[in-house]
This record gives sequence, C-alpha cells and structure tokens, in this order.
Amino acid sequence: ALFAKYKAFAASPQYAQLPAVRKRIVDHALRDFRLGGAELKSPGRERFAELQERQAALAQKFSENVLDATNAFTLLVTDESDLAGLHADTIEAAREAAQKDGEAGWKFTLQFPSYLPVMQYAVHRPLRERMYRAYCTRASREALAPEGEAAAALDNAPIIDELLALRHEEAGLLGYANFAQVSLVPKMAESPEQVIAFLRDLARRARPFAERDMAELRRFAADELSLTELQAWDLAFASEKLKEARYAFSDQTVKQYFQLPRVLDGLFGLIERLYSVRIAPDSAPVWHPDVRFFRVERDGQLIGQFYTDLYARASKRPGAWMDDARSRRRRHAALQTPVAYLVCNFQPPVGGRPALLTHDDVTTLFHEFGHGLHHLLTRVDDLAVSGISGVEWDAVELPSQFMENFCWEWDIVASMSAHVETGAPLPRELFDRMLAAKNFQSGMATLRQIEFALFDMRLHAGFEPRGARSVQDVLDEVRREVAVVVPPSWNRFQNSFSHIFAGGYSAGYYSYKWAEVLSADAYAAFEEAMAQPDAPARVAETGRRFLDEILSVGGSRPAIDSFRAFRGRDPELDALLRHNGMVEASAPEPSHA
Ligand code: ZN
Repeated sequence: ALFAKYKAFAASPQYAQLPAVRKRIVDHALRDFRLGGAELKSPGRERFAELQERQAALAQKFSENVLDATNAFTLLVTDESDLAGLHADTIEAAREAAQKDGEAGWKFTLQFPSYLPVMQYAVHRPLRERMYRAYCTRASREALAPEGEAAAALDNAPIIDELLALRHEEAGLLGYANFAQVSLVPKMAESPEQVIAFLRDLARRARPFAERDMAELRRFAADELSLTELQAWDLAFASEKLKEARYAFSDQTVKQYFQLPRVLDGLFGLIERLYSVRIAPDSAPVWHPDVRFFRVERDGQLIGQFYTDLYARASKRPGAWMDDARSRRRRHAALQTPVAYLVCNFQPPVGGRPALLTHDDVTTLFHEFGHGLHHLLTRVDDLAVSGISGVEWDAVELPSQFMENFCWEWDIVASMSAHVETGAPLPRELFDRMLAAKNFQSGMATLRQIEFALFDMRLHAGFEPRGARSVQDVLDEVRREVAVVVPPSWNRFQNSFSHIFAGGYSAGYYSYKWAEVLSADAYAAFEEAMAQPDAPARVAETGRRFLDEILSVGGSRPAIDSFRAFRGRDPELDALLRHNGMVEASAPEPSHA
C-alpha cells in the first residue's frame, strides 16, 4: 500500500515541482521498494520471499560453521623448545588455555590472538605449518578438525553453491542479468564491468611493486633465515623478521609523543582552519564522567554539537565509531542542528599523566572525526539525505579515510606531538621510519585485497551456479591472474570468507579499495595546494571547496557528481599508489607537451 502511494505521488504534478534533492529521496524510496520485490506478481512474489528467507538461513549457517570449525581445532604443544620465538604473553596465554582444560603444556587455537602470533613469531616451522593448514581449511572437507561426518556437517562449500544459485535467481526475478548488477544499483560504481576494469587496472599498476616485495622477502628469508623454499606458512614469519630488521621501532616509544589533549587541540585546530569553524566546550548531561561535549560554530552561529567518549572501560563496546544522536533537518521554520557521538577505546590516563596514544590511535581518532564532520557540517535540510544519510555505501568512507592522511603530514604530526616528559616533538627520523613501515609490502597487500575483490565480483557477475566451472576454478583463475603468492591447492579460504557469504559485502568487497582511491585522490588536491608558494591561501580555498562540494552535500546528489565538482575530473589511481609508496623512483618524468 505504501509503495502504491509512493508511485502515485511520483506520477503527480506535485512531484514534478519538487526540487532535485526531494525528487531524489522519492526516487530512492521507489528503488528500494523495487529491489525489495514490491513490484513482483504471484508466484514470483512468494518465491522472492522464500529466497530471502533461505538466504538469511544459509548466511547464518555459514557463519556458525566458521565459528564451530574455528573452535573445533586445538593444538597442544608439550615440548617447550617448540615455542621458540614466541613472546612471553603468548606463551602464558597458551599455558593457561591448556591448564583450563586440565592438560600440561601449551594449547593454541585458531582464534586470532592465538593464531596470529604463532604465524608471525614461531621459529618452529612444523608448528606454523600445522596451524596454517588448520586455519586455511576451516569449514571444508580438507579440515583437520573435526573429522569425518562432523567435518561434512561443517563444510561450507554446498552453502556457497546454494547461496550463489539463489542470488542469481533473485536477480532474475528483479529483471537483472546477475546478482552483481543488483548489488550495484544503490552504489556509486555503475556496473560489474566498471568494477572489474578498476580492479584490473589497480592490479596492473601494483604488480611490479608486489613482485619487488616478494623478491625482497625471498632474498631475506634465504640469506638471514635459511628458508630457501618459502612456503605459505613462512610468509608472515619472514615478513615480521624483515620488518623488524628494516624499521625497528616500538609503539611504546611513539606513544610517549602523543598526549591526547594535545592531539585533540591539533585536530580541532586543523578542522577550524580548513572549514572556517570554531570548536568550543559546551555542556549537556552525559552518561559517564569521561564524556565531554562540544559545539561547532561558524560566525557565532551554532552548526552542530558532539560528544566524545574516548577511553576504554569495562562493559563498553570495543572499537571506534561515529554515530548520529540526531541529524540536521528543517521543519517549517525550525532548524534542528546535528549532534554526533564520537566513541573510541583508548587507554585511559594513568598516574596523573595525560592519556597517551599510539599513532594508530591518532589515525583512528582522525578517521572517526572525518565521519563526524560529514554528519555535522552538512547543509542539507532533508533528513533522508542530510549528513551521511543516503550517501552511497561505497563512498561513505571518503571523508573518514581522507582525514587519516593528515596523520602522515609531517607539519601536522610535529605540531601535535610533544614528549610527555621533555615536551620535544616526534623526531623526524622516527617519523620517517614509521612512514616506511606503513608502506612495507604495500604492493603485496594491495594485490591480496584485489584478489578477494575480483573473486567476489566475478562470482556474482559471470559465474554459472551448477555450471562447468566450480567456485574453486574461479578462485584459481583469479589467483593466476593477480596473485604473486599462490597458496597450496588444499587452501579453502573461500569457505570462511564471511564478508561475502555471511556479511553485507556480496559483490561489494571492492568498496574498500574504491573508497581509498576516492579519499587519496581528494587528499591529493590538498597536497597540490600545499606545494604552491601561497600555500595557506590555497589550502584554505581547497578546504572551502571540499566543504562545499563533498562534506556539506551529504546524500543530496550522487557521490560521483560531488567528487567531480570538487576535483574537476573523474577519480584517478595515482594518489593512492603514491601514498602507499608505490612510485617508481627511477621512472622517467612524464613529458608535458
Ligand atoms: Zn569509517
């Protein structure tokens, strides 16, 4: 009935007179009705509902299988010499795990905090191999545990096949050729072909750097670790050793330089300069004494307010996020200003000293403030598209990832760092090592993300369920095309790829890289401004345009229009590659005609 009313309204003269922003809201509502099957007639309508229900059940079972398979395997080490290389806290946790089960020795599991340190630090190669094999065969017929019938019950392969078939059928009912097309309707990317071309282009550009990373790792492993034939279970171990040898620094050292109050001052100052606003303490009832409240003003006018709740404490949800307490909207003459929550889980202050942040913490804070600014600086008056509302899912990380870039800007880092005892800023030499470590193996990491994204898109775009090629065949093809490290043939990574089989990322995994390209390219406009002789004026002007064309418009127009309005062209890959250290120092300068 509601759909019928929307349709009638969309056909009425009132609709024709609406401003573009409000037309967009109505159009989106109609689109979501259609994608939800509202337009289908019997029996398609009933079948669509069945498909939804069955897919939800399968996705649920998929993640339960991953969970059960993860818990089914444990490895008990009884010879202490097998623990060589592991840190004391890892060993202690393994000892406690064994003790809890009434066993002597050290028990390792496939939970990440137990698994990862083994892969990174265990010198004993058979231990790494066994753990790797167990981890990469979870929820498959190849699994090390459970065995036999029980393994078959946790096998996710049939679930993957059925899910793909159902998604394909759903797409057909809605009038699309494949599920990838359905997934992309509300997103910024236009077609599966566009996404695949984007991923291949990025793969082609990253490949030489990934090959260089791999060659360097092979050399190091052979020369320094006597590992001549580098296996899948050696990669994390050798990489960690190489990273230590090249860029040794500790998070603890860096932490002494980032005092939270000073970092917040630096962040607020940056926001004030870029967007011509003022941030001042404000008052409101709060839910915990650690919570603070602020107001954002421009020319003395209230624009929005936000809470910060930055310290970890018992019973608080872990992680970091921005959430909206309320959004901007205009009703009749009254304007409701937006209010945001900015929540992190930093270590609270101890011993009368201010709270100290790792550089990762600082980056997290900037990231969440990017989302916060998107919400707070909006100028849109309609609730459905103000702030982050109505922004395409693959574009919503643009403002947040954009802000992270400032944490790698030397002038900004220098001005907001002060050693907690001496007051000295972060030494330049330490900053340079942090920067190099950030880009460590970025070529290999990029290709790995592309492998996942291409696999996801190809499965949902061109794959024929129950056809001649299996899911494994598609994965093998993708790996032959982009991977520099091809895992063993028994690896069943796809059986625990929950993002696309049990999460919201089906035909959407590409969005990680997609949003990174947008944010890096947007940030490059600031780098260009900073390189000009009249930098302060140029940066201020660029900030104003970023505010006008991206931050303030929210979901009121397509993200690609906002990007083009800001940058004057389509997004390009170059800035992301450069920010990740993937530039050929020896490459000839491009000639300018
Ligand atoms: Zn985010």
